[in-house]
Amino acid sequence: MAAREASKEVIVRCNITVLFEPGQEDTAHFFEVHNVNVVASLPCYSKKNVEQQRGRGVFDKSIEGLKILNQLGYGNPETGLVLDLVYNPGGAFLPPNQDKLKQDYKKELKELFNIEFNNLFTITNMPIKRFLDDLLRQGKFESYMELLVNNFNVQSVDEVMCRTLISVSHDGELFDCDFNQMLNLPLGNKKRTIWDIESLDSFSEGEKIKTANHCYACTAGAGSSCGGALK
Ligand code: SF4
Repeated sequence: MAAREASKEVIVRCNITVLFEPGQEDTAHFFEVHNVNVVASLPCYSKKNVEQQRGRGVFDKSIEGLKILNQLGYGNPETGLVLDLVYNPGGAFLPPNQDKLKQDYKKELKELFNIEFNNLFTITNMPIKRFLDDLLRQGKFESYMELLVNNFNVQSVDEVMCRTLISVSHDGELFDCDFNQMLNLPLGNKKRTIWDIESLDSFSEGEKIKTANHCYACTAGAGSSCGGALK
């Protein structure tokens, strides 16, 4: 935990069901001890919708995992232990309004399961990898791309995460974002690793960002990033 020792904020994006995998029994406690922010995916507060998207048993395990984190103090503004949830649409449509959906999540999770959390991030589905395969299989790829393009929001362009963040792969290669990393599109179209740069300051103002059709998912509607809606 060198990053925490250097007083850096550390965020773990976590599928909450991993807390129940063999050998992971102390993971939640490890997060708490090191004051790691947890960002957990929960596509809906309804069991039916979650199981349709993620499979049987995932909802119940996720709820149990969130309860464990709450017991450790996560989601309680007084402890400083941050628990954020992620919503992504269960199909080829844009996310609803993030603030309104957060209120619904807060109400339903509190009333049904006594669960607390800090923020809800709505994230637009990227037309890449498994979601792309689903779109192609269902003959929905073109209509989904049309939806993204027709909802292009010019105001979100200044806020897309590749303008201020970079992604680093396990072997040190640099990418404009984690989506480009998944697609193996090098930073600014020029393959570089952390050993090729002196510091992040070496990136100049005019540094190119490698864009492609999937970028329309970041700029559609309210915009989308790892921190949720942009506008
Ligand atoms: S997908 Fe495109 S617009 Fe979105 S963060 Fe990555 S490079 Fe930027």
